[in-house]
Amino acid sequence: MKPRILLIYTGGTIGMIKDPETGALRSFDFTQLLFHIPELKQLDCQIETTSFKEPIDSSDMDLSHWKVLGDIINANYDDYHGFVVLHGSDTMSHTGSALSFMFENLTKPVILTGSQLPIGDLRTDAKENLITSIQLASEWDDNEPIIKEVCIYFEYQLYRANRTAKMNAEHFEAFSSPNYPPLAISGVHLNIDRQLLWKGGFDRVSIAKKESLELSPRIMIYRPEMDSKVVVLKLFPGITEEVVKAICQIEGLRGIILETYGSGNAPTSSWFIGALKDALLRNVRIINVTQCRGGSVDMGKYETSVALKKLGMVSGYDITTEAALAKMMYLLAYMPETGDFKKYFETSLRGEISV
Ligand code: ASP
Repeated sequence: MKPRILLIYTGGTIGMIKDPETGALRSFDFTQLLFHIPELKQLDCQIETTSFKEPIDSSDMDLSHWKVLGDIINANYDDYHGFVVLHGSDTMSHTGSALSFMFENLTKPVILTGSQLPIGDLRTDAKENLITSIQLASEWDDNEPIIKEVCIYFEYQLYRANRTAKMNAEHFEAFSSPNYPPLAISGVHLNIDRQLLWKGGFDRVSIAKKESLELSPRIMIYRPEMDSKVVVLKLFPGITEEVVKAICQIEGLRGIILETYGSGNAPTSSWFIGALKDALLRNVRIINVTQCRGGSVDMGKYETSVALKKLGMVSGYDITTEAALAKMMYLLAYMPETGDFKKYFETSLRGEISV
């Protein structure tokens, strides 16, 4: 039996053409995408396609689009062996991170890919990205898919999606995964490093609002809700009290991703620590995530992070800002108000942090 793969087109450069009048890139009818890659017919799998009603540039992605995408995967989950999502690269790491939390105990591959050059371009990177993504989603062994997680495939490398960040707007190698090695490398052969793959399993802490997690470990659970009342506060030398206070006091705010320096360091001024303390007292969750792309938060290592540690701030360890946002939105949507947010966030739920 040939694996059945569902190709989902959301938009992005991969399916774009130049508007002859304005010269700007815009999305075109998805059926033309297959027309541009007749090679797809040679693959040893059955490919079916579906598309967003209105394909979008990934800069327009919001929580409602994540839900549409999640719903498509969820509705078709039993009918396909794997899913390949064509998505703009700009916010692909965000969507990949979100999907990774929305699907707990995934038993099939969900591979996001896109391209830096449109499919119609002579020098396009779209064909290789798409063909290899489909091949990886079709990898099957012992009667089950080899990959059971949300990944990004780009320029010969397969990454765990929630470990990635878009690093380059020019090079074909647009993504990197600084704190976790690639899961697979495409050379003459497709080399999947099975040791690195996510082995699945439940959220080791119960995050469900009402339901019990005492379920068979083979059952995938789809949780599409996300809470958007969050903000990223990136520190920079010269940041003012006025700005920090205005952000911390946003009406209805539930979470702050605090992008700190180095191993989780921040200004020691009393107004700064005070603003954070006030927010924490109002039950705003604050995550300490480093601005460095590689390495981990280690609160207490320097004097400039001792106060944050004393406040009981949540450590993001080596999580990316993209994954931290998605994880926070997910936990805020599903965790009871009284739950131990710090414990849940500091646990690796989908392989997004090295703890
Ligand atoms: N602006 C495009 C998008 O993210 C870029 C791309 O497709 O890579 O939708």
